[in-house]
Amino acid sequence: SLSFSRELHVVVLGAGGVGKSCLTAQFVHNEWIESYDPTIEDSYRTQVQVDGRQVILEILDTAGTEQFGMKSLPSSPTALPTNSRVVAMRDLYMKTGQGFLLVFSITSPSSLSELESLREEIIRIKDEENVPMVIVGNKADLEEGRVIPRAKGFAVSQKWGAPYYEASARTRTNVDEVFIDLCRQMLRKDDE
Ligand code: GDP
Ligand code: MG
Repeated sequence: SLSFSRELHVVVLGAGGVGKSCLTAQFVHNEWIESYDPTIEDSYRTQVQVDGRQVILEILDTAGTEQFGMKSLPSSPTALPTNSRVVAMRDLYMKTGQGFLLVFSITSPSSLSELESLREEIIRIKDEENVPMVIVGNKADLEEGRVIPRAKGFAVSQKWGAPYYEASARTRTNVDEVFIDLCRQMLRKDDE
């Protein structure tokens, strides 16, 4: 029988330098690339099997504020940029996105708190609470540099009702798992 491959839109979000591009490259191309231009925002198409179903993923690897040569203010780590062009683009991909990888680094304390305002913005733009999301504590290979305890990631995950994974783009740990978990949530939602 013929069956259509479903196309699902994934958005990878998080502070600059947490490893969004490295995680995306590991998932899509199976390769570790030490450094990416932090200002580049790009999208990737890839086909995956999820529970026997063929899915086409359109993954947007966002570049956030670095793209425009801005840095969030250290005094207000949760503040989102207000530049109108950034806001308009973000609104658009938050509307289009069906699933969100919320990435922070276990070695950066502010990167977790920055996710809070991103999540609130997604919920506000989509005007619903039930949005497929996965919280990713990346750079888990850097245990000696850890500043966010695993329990803290779990606490946030409980509060937001989204699964939490610790991952490493460097060692390719839990890379497939986070994307597949997100796919499952998106498919479930799409089936409703
Ligand atoms: P982005 O700004 O969120 O896209 O971050 P990048 O993917 O460009 O990564 C930023 C920096 O962190 C680069 O120097 C990467 O080599 C490094 N990096 C990314 N992921 C990992 C990881 O899992 N472990 C380690 N040790 N370094 C990582
Ligand atoms: Mg990047």
